Amino acid sequence: MENYKATQRDTLFVTQELLNMEAHYQDLGFEDATDDLIRAIYGEAAKFAENVLAPLNQVGDDEGCTINDGVVTTPTGFKEAYRQYVDGGWPSMAHPVEFGGQGLPYSLATTMAEWFSGANHSWAMYPGLSQGCMETLKANGTPEQQEIYLTKLIEGSWTGTMCLTEPHCGSDLGMLKCRAEPTEDGSYKLSGTKIFISAGEHDMSDNIIHLVLARLPDAPAGTKGISLFLVPKFNVDGQGNIGDRNTVKCGSLEHKMGIKGSATCVMNFDEANGFLVGEPNRGLACMFTFMNIARIGTGMEGLSATEAAYQGALAYAKDRLQFRSMTGKKNPEGPADPIIVHPDVRRMLLTQKSLAEGKRAMAVYCMKMVDTTLYSEDEEAKKLAEAKLALLTPIVKAFLTETAQEATSYGMQIYGGHGYIKEWGMEQLARDTRICTMYEGTTGIQAIDLLARKIIGSNGELLKVFATEIKTYCADLRGQSQFNAWANSIDSHVDEWIQISTDIAQLAKTNPDEIGAASVDYLMYAGYITVGYFWLQMAVTAQQKLDEGTSETDFYRAKLMTAKFYFDRMLSRTRSLVSAINSGSENLMQMEEALFSAGK
Ligand SMILES: Cc1cc2nc3c(=O)[nH]c(=O)nc-3n(C[C@H](O)[C@H](O)[C@H](O)COP(=O)(O)OP(=O)(O)OC[C@H]3O[C@@H](n4cnc5c(N)ncnc54)[C@H](O)[C@@H]3O)c2cc1C
Repeated sequence: MENYKATQRDTLFVTQELLNMEAHYQDLGFEDATDDLIRAIYGEAAKFAENVLAPLNQVGDDEGCTINDGVVTTPTGFKEAYRQYVDGGWPSMAHPVEFGGQGLPYSLATTMAEWFSGANHSWAMYPGLSQGCMETLKANGTPEQQEIYLTKLIEGSWTGTMCLTEPHCGSDLGMLKCRAEPTEDGSYKLSGTKIFISAGEHDMSDNIIHLVLARLPDAPAGTKGISLFLVPKFNVDGQGNIGDRNTVKCGSLEHKMGIKGSATCVMNFDEANGFLVGEPNRGLACMFTFMNIARIGTGMEGLSATEAAYQGALAYAKDRLQFRSMTGKKNPEGPADPIIVHPDVRRMLLTQKSLAEGKRAMAVYCMKMVDTTLYSEDEEAKKLAEAKLALLTPIVKAFLTETAQEATSYGMQIYGGHGYIKEWGMEQLARDTRICTMYEGTTGIQAIDLLARKIIGSNGELLKVFATEIKTYCADLRGQSQFNAWANSIDSHVDEWIQISTDIAQLAKTNPDEIGAASVDYLMYAGYITVGYFWLQMAVTAQQKLDEGTSETDFYRAKLMTAKFYFDRMLSRTRSLVSAINSGSENLMQMEEALFSAGK
């Protein structure tokens, strides 16, 4: 497969031309985050992704992680790449100077995380989880915890994990059993088993800081009785010096379909020393920031895979010769034409391309909202950003990862039988990406979060905020006839989106199953409209550049043509989704459980 290339040009289009991130950073008081600095950081991040991480991608898949007596070894080169990552100052970029960070905005650090994951999904998970751990400690840790643990995480010498899942509970965390017994010195002893813990044990860092959900002895049942604890792999003294081994051990590694270079660990806590983070029984609330940011991060993994699949497939489609074009030879000197001449191959390539670029715009927009929620002093702007983020987070998580399955599957399809063969890398991409619709809350759980909590739970208010933004943009475009049809289409889709939401809320009053029956189709429907809104904006920006007389005509013409593909062929997917949504719950729920017979 073609070597992965960081999408510097397209990311700059989104950040600088579409979303005006430089002005956004200046407004938020990040005076150093100038266009020059942004470009310099992108340049270095691209080199790291392309030259250090991408060459290790297949190595990680071939070797996987190994365990010997509880000690986990990562694939060849992973540890050294992590050292380079730390030496490059990457872990500390978006953290406060007072804890040793570089004080740059969140979105600047996370935008290029797309490239790290695109180059090597497995490797990128180790620092990705650490970032979540840092955000949680930043928001909820005591000053002492921040001084001792957060500074080391930001420095990169220690890494972090999130320990939620147990053998009997994944989505339904209310059932978790891991116990935390208070001790006389104010700390806790944690006992229980956590499964599927990414980066739970490895050889990259000097210490591993586990953030663990557990129950206090007197905790109420369900989610209201869950607390959050910090459990270090090695005990640490009051000055941050590493001491003896804590009684938390990796029991085994999971053997899994993909992301083989990422250690997925069964973690056994045997009266391990731990410290409460935040208030007792408020563990899930403490993880709120982390979970939202992690969901956008997982959505980004879907974007990374979509882009990587497109890059590989495009190179192959230009190189592979099969048959002649139906409209006459395009490669008369050769024995056949490259497969990119065939309409069906173009259908698959443009599906990948329109999804990758549309999803990139949507993801960066969400990161811009995260910045506003974190740093803005304008309360009104903050409230609006929080509302949009609450609505869009489940869509980003699930839509970006679900459509990545299609994009990576097309990656294999464009390679024909060679896509199924390991050496080309396409099947690895499809296997690695498969997990993204499952961890950090499955698509089903995201869809219920969107429809039940965000839409119905807010009486449609969250949707109204985003709908107002979209409808205002479409109304402002009315004078530009070139884009009228697309603007009208997005505008009427938004009206329909509001109407469908109202209809489901009404039906759910008498039958709550109507929510679950509609939810995933509803989320995908919302995703296609949202990406359509960003394609409309990208088309308008591209046309402006062409009108101004840019020297990059190919880049902007390609944007306009990809927008046309999206509006002609992708947005229409909303029609079948509406039909499924409107069909209601009966076709799903009428069959008695006993009639679901298998193998008869
Ligand atoms: C490689 C890997 C890495 C992971 N990393 C971590 C990690 O670092 N830390 C961590 O804590 N966990 C981690 N996980 C666990 C992951 O987050 C869970 O697997 C996930 O949350 C789903 O839980 P589950 O597997 O128990 O599925 P279940 O909760 O049993 O769900 C099974 C199916 O039922 C559906 N379902 C359940 N309830 C409902 C409902 N109410 N409505 C509709 N559908 C429903 C789900 O959508 C799903 O399709 C990881 C998992 C894997 C495989």
